[in-house]
Parts: sequence; structure tokens; C-alpha cells
Amino acid sequence: MRVPLTSRDFLDRAELVYGDRIGAVDEPAQPAPSLGDVTYREVARRGRALQAGLDALGIAEGERVAIVSHNSARLLELLLSVPSSGRVAVPINFRLQPEEVEYIVGHSGARVLLVDPELESSLKGVGAEHRFGTGEEYEQLLRFDVEPRPWSEPDEDATATINYTSGTTARPKGVQMTHRNIWVNAVTFGMHMQVSDRDVYMHTLPMFHCNGWGLPYAMAGVGARQVVIRKIDGAEILRRVDQHGVTLMAGAPAVWNAVLEAAADWDGEIPGRDRVRIIVAGAPPPSRTIARVEAELGWEFNQIYGLTETAPLLTINRPRAEYDDLDAEERAKRLSRAGAPSIGTRMSVSDTGEVLARSNTVLAGYWENPDASAEALEDGWFHTGDGGSIDDEGYVAISDRKKDVIITGGENVSSIEVEDVVFSHPAVAEAAVIGIPDEKWGEMVTAIVVLAEGEQATEADIIAHCKARLAGYKAPKRVEFRDELARTATGKIQKFKLRQDFWAGSDRQVN
Ligand code: AMP
Repeated sequence: MRVPLTSRDFLDRAELVYGDRIGAVDEPAQPAPSLGDVTYREVARRGRALQAGLDALGIAEGERVAIVSHNSARLLELLLSVPSSGRVAVPINFRLQPEEVEYIVGHSGARVLLVDPELESSLKGVGAEHRFGTGEEYEQLLRFDVEPRPWSEPDEDATATINYTSGTTARPKGVQMTHRNIWVNAVTFGMHMQVSDRDVYMHTLPMFHCNGWGLPYAMAGVGARQVVIRKIDGAEILRRVDQHGVTLMAGAPAVWNAVLEAAADWDGEIPGRDRVRIIVAGAPPPSRTIARVEAELGWEFNQIYGLTETAPLLTINRPRAEYDDLDAEERAKRLSRAGAPSIGTRMSVSDTGEVLARSNTVLAGYWENPDASAEALEDGWFHTGDGGSIDDEGYVAISDRKKDVIITGGENVSSIEVEDVVFSHPAVAEAAVIGIPDEKWGEMVTAIVVLAEGEQATEADIIAHCKARLAGYKAPKRVEFRDELARTATGKIQKFKLRQDFWAGSDRQVN
């Protein structure tokens, strides 16, 4: 028998088996009316009401529904229910500038746009055929009085979501995640992390980012409670771990650094000691951070590696039985590798040192971008753009980046996009943007600038110019001025030379 693997399976099971259980705990402090504690039955009922609302608007199967929102129970229910109706959810990064959001809404062809009330004033100029706030207006969109039209022919290869991600091009690319991608990711991720109905998962990861790594589906499938948190703050994370009995969280190394900092000032026992497991990805965590998480917090450290393009799970590094008797330093060293392939994934390294992957979690393609899709999937392997190696235990380690991308606080920044903006400053003759190692953010966006003859501009001028045109996290935090930039014979800026000064003494070129 062949039953299509669709993302609907997860919420359906939550409703059937765990209907009475609190499925979502909404953020209490938000501009929209908080939904409070919602049972899985209610999440599913509201999801159907949203589908019926979209029916009433005449949004057909295959059409896109975009949402720009901080983490919220409404965003969660949308991710769990919109794809189930055969429509495509497009969750957008809430940190982007209006022009960037506008580009994504336009490129995805979304007829519906939902906007978090907190972003309402900054995004007031961004429109779509139907536009709603995610508070009261969202509630009015819901139709509880009619059953939604069922998806006519559920298809596991249909696109469930499009997740825009910054890559090597100035414009973000839309990663087309199929239902099958989401299904395989959720089930294998859940299996490797041994998630169960006893878990309480807190969303320390932005849900827009690769659909919160697909974990909302995995958690719904096993009936685990999902706690929403909107703002990342170390002390608040500790408080809520305590309050909700959290057992599982995921995030970039910067999140755990914030928690470690807060823990240093925490009075009494650290909440969740010997109970919490964390999943870390986005950058290679320093082994010192790993050792500190285990010693100072008493939380289990797990690492995964993957990309938005891979749903994201490719490799996983869990503290296996063999590590139990290792000393803290050796254990942290083992856990600092990106991990071994998840079940169903094959990893390889090309002749040039690029990490390659084959898996059912790999994207179908980039939305309306056949050239980029062909390039990424050349020769039947997904080209990650990361440089690395595989050791004789089959574990992948990431040491370098082939693509011109900076990862700061877990978010991708396209160097080219920032260079374009720096270059648009009238005093700038040449510019190169690179990532340099930074304690807090992993990598810090840094612009190396040559000023035009007779022109003047300060570091603050260039930063202000960029902040006005780019999402804050993409703007350079540091600007250095040079008389010239090293170039190849063909005139290409030699970025690796610019990087060398900042990465000297490090055995890898990513952080
Ligand atoms: P994104 O598509 O925004 O999730 O970013 C994916 C990128 O994050 C990858 O291509 C890597 O460069 C980086 N990344 C993710 N996980 C890890 C990890 N465990 N170690 C090193 N880099 C990572």
C-alpha cells in the first residue's frame, strides 16, 4: 500500500491521540491577544477554520500564503495546517527590511499575507491581495461554521512550504520543501532525538527558519507540548524551562551562550539540570561551550548539521554510550563534530573539499529558479557549499565555507547582498564583506572598504547607511578602511587573503 506522506499526518495524530492535552502554550507577552494554553484538539480545530477561511477567500490548492511573524501559537498552527490543505505556507524572517519582505511576497506570488502586529507599522507599505494582522484580523479570517474543502489529491511530492534563505546571490532563494521532505525530516529527527509524549519542547528557534527545523511536526506527531517564546533572552529561557518543565530546545550557539551568561547570575539550582536536551546547529560550536553546557547547566548537548535546503537534518551527533566514561574535554571534542549521517542520508566530500549530501530531506528545487536548482543538485548530490571532512567513524566536521555566506547568530547573510549596499554609499570605491570570528555572534559581518579619491566617510557613516537599507543583523558591525584590496590577475578580490588576517591561529575558517 502506498499512502502519501503528507505533513497533515502529524497534527491529525496529535488530535486523535492527544486531543485533550495542552499542545501549544502561547507567548503571554505579545501585541496580539495571546491564545494561552491550547489543546491539540483546539489547534486542529483552529487549523481547519483557517483552511475554511482561505477557501472563502478563493485561495486555491498550490497557492501561497505568506506570514511574517515572531514565534506565536498562530504561526505554529498555520505551519501545521496550511500545507495540509494543499496550499503552500511561506514563513518569512521577521527581521527583514520592508523591501526584502516585499521581494519575497512578490517572488513567491503569495495572494495572502499575514503580518505580526509588532511589525505592522514597519511593514505598512508591503501589500498583497489579502492582508491581515495576526491578531484580531486573523481571528476574523477563521471560519468555524463550515468544514474546509479537503485537499483533492494529497501528494507527497507537492510543495508544502517555501522558505527563503540568503545564499550566494544578492537576492534570497525560495527553498521548496515538499511534504515528503518534511515527513522524513520530522520522523528521522524525532527518532534520533528519541522524542516522546513526555517531552516539553520550547521554541527557542525562530519558527520561520526552516519551519523551526521541522520540529513542530515531529513534536505534534508524538503529542509533545510546544511552548512558544518570542524573544531570546538567557534568563527568560531559564525561567520558562522551570515554569513549563521544558525537556527539549534547539538553537544556534549564540542562544546557548546567552543562557550560559544568564546562568552565571542565576540564584539556586539551574532549571532542567539532568532533564533538558538541547540541539545545536548553525555554526560549529566551540568545544568549550559544549563542556560548559554540560557542566554548568547539566543539559545534554546534541549537535546536528544541515541547511534550510535539507529540511534540515543531515547529520546528528548525540552523546552515545561510548562517550559515557570519557573525561569532559574528550567528550566535548567528540560532540564538537557536526555528526554522523541521519538514517537515510549519505554524505560525501568532493575533490575540492565541498560537503555533499543525498537524502530524502533534500529540497525539490528553488522556487522559480531552475539554474540555481540544477547547480545545487548537480550529479545527483546536493552541494552544501560547506567545506569539511569525514573521519573514519563516519562523522562529518565542517571547517570552511565554499559559498560566500556569513553566519551570524545562526542566520545566513549573503556577503554579496551587503557588498551591494556598502558599495551604494557615494564615498565607497571598493568593498568586500567578510565574516570574522566573534565571541557572541560566531561570526561578525565586517566590511573592508576603499574610499573614492577625495571622499570621506567614517565607520559610523557606512554602518548607518547599511542599517537603513538592510535587516539589522546583516549590516556590518565593523568597517575597516584600506588603500587597496588584494586582487587576482583577473581582477577578482581575494577574499581569502582579507580573511587571513582575522582568522590567523584558527584551524578552521567558520565559527
Ligand atoms: P541555514 O540554511 O540558514 O539553516 O544555514 C545552513 C548553514 O549553516 C550550513 O550551510 C552551514 O554553513 C551552517 N551550519 C549548520 N549547522 C552547522 C554545524 N553543525 N556546524 C557548522 N556549520 C553549520
